[in-house]
Amino acid sequence: MALRLYNTITRRIEPFVPLAPPRVTIYTCGPTVWTYAHLGNFRTFLNQDLLRRYLEYLGYDVFQIMNLTDVDDRIIAEARKAGKTISEHTQPFAEAFFEDRDYLGMQPAHVYPRATGAVESMVRLVQDLLDRGVAYRAEDQSVYFAVEKFEGYGRLSQLDKRELKVGARVESDEYSKENLRDFALWKASTPADEAVGAAWDAPFGRGRPGWHLECSAMALEELRSRFGIATLDIHAGGVDLIFPHHENEIAQSEAVTGQPFSRLWMHGEFLTVEGTKMSKRYGNFLTVRDLREEGVDPAAVRMLFFQTHYRKQFNFSDASLAAAGKGAERIGELHQRLLATVGGTLGGEPGEAGALLERDVGRALDEDLNAPNALAAVSNFVTTANRALDGGEWSPAEAAGNLQILGRVTEVFGILPRRPAEDPELARWVEGKIAERQKARSAGDFSSSDAIRDELAAAGIVLEDTPQGARWKQRGS
Ligand code: AMP
Ligand code: ZN
Repeated sequence: MALRLYNTITRRIEPFVPLAPPRVTIYTCGPTVWTYAHLGNFRTFLNQDLLRRYLEYLGYDVFQIMNLTDVDDRIIAEARKAGKTISEHTQPFAEAFFEDRDYLGMQPAHVYPRATGAVESMVRLVQDLLDRGVAYRAEDQSVYFAVEKFEGYGRLSQLDKRELKVGARVESDEYSKENLRDFALWKASTPADEAVGAAWDAPFGRGRPGWHLECSAMALEELRSRFGIATLDIHAGGVDLIFPHHENEIAQSEAVTGQPFSRLWMHGEFLTVEGTKMSKRYGNFLTVRDLREEGVDPAAVRMLFFQTHYRKQFNFSDASLAAAGKGAERIGELHQRLLATVGGTLGGEPGEAGALLERDVGRALDEDLNAPNALAAVSNFVTTANRALDGGEWSPAEAAGNLQILGRVTEVFGILPRRPAEDPELARWVEGKIAERQKARSAGDFSSSDAIRDELAAAGIVLEDTPQGARWKQRGS
């Protein structure tokens, strides 16, 4: 079996074949830092994190680019309201985004280009489009992309180009398919833009980039300068980005490079609340900081999201989050139990249960990243393993082999509850102490073994002696 992924542009699940394996380049449209990202945004980002981790598990050498949109219509409006420049306004939200990312245990992208840091390459791209005659400067001094000049326009979102209103224009970044027309690449500066520091000089007039242009320019800049290519392996975002954002990104990029902008387009479905898309606009949103303040373990959030396939809508509720948290704890407890069983055993030989786990998780994820099926396989493994440990059926070596597999697999999802996993040094120290205590007990040195138990208790570690050896957890976890 090999990885197959759904490609929005062909509407099919296809074998995943990167341009130059083992390298895989991914561009993910990052947050617009006009305010805090909400949990819906993070559903999309976490599914991309799963994709990234699974590709790495398969041995690919992933290079992930995630931009920060730090100039757009919404940011300018918010900065004006707050009486700040756009960079003053966006900086705290950009920092908050990175904090939320770390709290959720997302792998950092390799680069985070910011739109305001890449204006030069945006200006070059607009100039190139003007030179090729696919863009024009209109009476309002803004530069527009002439949609009818680009043959492939509408392929991603399957537009009926007969609807096209030739020469009609839309200035705002977001619009519907019914409103299809030429879109702004470069918006002539206004006093409002100048007031918030959102205007740059360009040969075709002072102004600012449109949102769609930003991503094309940043992606091409990174691909060309680092790898000398103009084609991404995967471009990812939520389904609301298919039109117009990604359709326009394709037009702007391919009109210049003549090469496919991305080999695969991956779009995640919405997180909803009572059936409605989670959105700032509808006021039905929750932020990651809200969860953190409530003391929610990030493993619960990851578990919750990965229990639904990324191409299905998912309705958020507190009850489902709590249930997912319990599921993650169950895996964490088994992990601890295996650690205790293994003791100081070095090496291991995976048994049947571990081999089955790895095979089933691979089969599920290979088929368009079917995380719910993969997690069902993890859950089956937990049941089997607990039963085997209860019956003393696994030798320390078999437990060690299975533990390694469980560790590898859960790492793809990042679903081990944070407390023990958070601090591997602590875990090593505790395991060392437990082994020492075991030795003392075997030698009949009970005053030493009691002293070790007290030492652990003082560090907040609770021990439980079981027939399979000592299990431990942190007090309060
Ligand atoms: P934005 O910050 O608005 O540019 O959005 C960042 C990412 O979040 C994009 O990929 C959007 O498609 C995605 N997104 C926005 N709302 C939701 C939602 N309710 N559920 C899942 N993804 C979303
Ligand atoms: Zn984008």
